[in-house]
Amino acid sequence: MVGRPIVISGPSGTGKSTLLKKLFAEYPSTFGFSISNTTRAPRAGEKDGVDYNFSTVEEFKKMIDENKFIEWAQFSGNYYGTSFKGVSDVSEKLKRTCILDIDMQGVKLIKKSDMNPRYLFIAPPSIEELRTRLEGRGTETSESLEKRISAASAELEYAKNGGHDKIIVNDDLEKAYKELKEFIFAEEV
Ligand code: ADP
Ligand code: 5GP
Repeated sequence: MVGRPIVISGPSGTGKSTLLKKLFAEYPSTFGFSISNTTRAPRAGEKDGVDYNFSTVEEFKKMIDENKFIEWAQFSGNYYGTSFKGVSDVSEKLKRTCILDIDMQGVKLIKKSDMNPRYLFIAPPSIEELRTRLEGRGTETSESLEKRISAASAELEYAKNGGHDKIIVNDDLEKAYKELKEFIFAEEV
């Protein structure tokens, strides 16, 4: 059975991709990832068409003009967007429960759409630990790292004010993963 889509959000560096990679490895045919478009450059190890559809600004703007996006936003100086195709490829073609990894602006826009997903927020144990993880990942310049840290405060504030169905603190990875599975497999909320 295809379940309601699940929107996962949380500050960049909090561990969303790490948790989702574990989920997709354990349940390869139950869930599918909504592959977003982005204008940011691929990181080492990221694959076009798998982690993101990497696009130029021109391509992205053309997709906006053609109404290809359910939602899109600018984050840390780049465009990110969820396309209607990205979601329907999972829900309709593959017949799997669709999982989206999007920022707070995207969450707010999806809430105005007719998608009706469940919302999960992944919080870092602290901003200091978030900074340590972003530094440890080795993917950010000092400028993009600071932008991510400042966006994190707004994300955490929104979560505190009840923007999501569930908040999981990703302190111990295995514990957080267990909680994520409990939420995902729970009765519909
Ligand atoms: P996001 O997808 O939310 O931006 P990532 O999954 O890329 O975050 O994780 C950011 C960094 O933190 C990665 O280097 C990852 O290995 C590390 N990380 C993820 N979860 C934990 C955890 N529970 N404890 C320590 N480090 C973690
Ligand atoms: P990153 O560059 O670290 O992969 O992602 C930066 C931020 O963009 C994260 O908060 C991530 O959840 C968000 N993001 C990724 N894809 C999308 C999308 O399609 N739409 C929106 N609104 N945010 C996205």
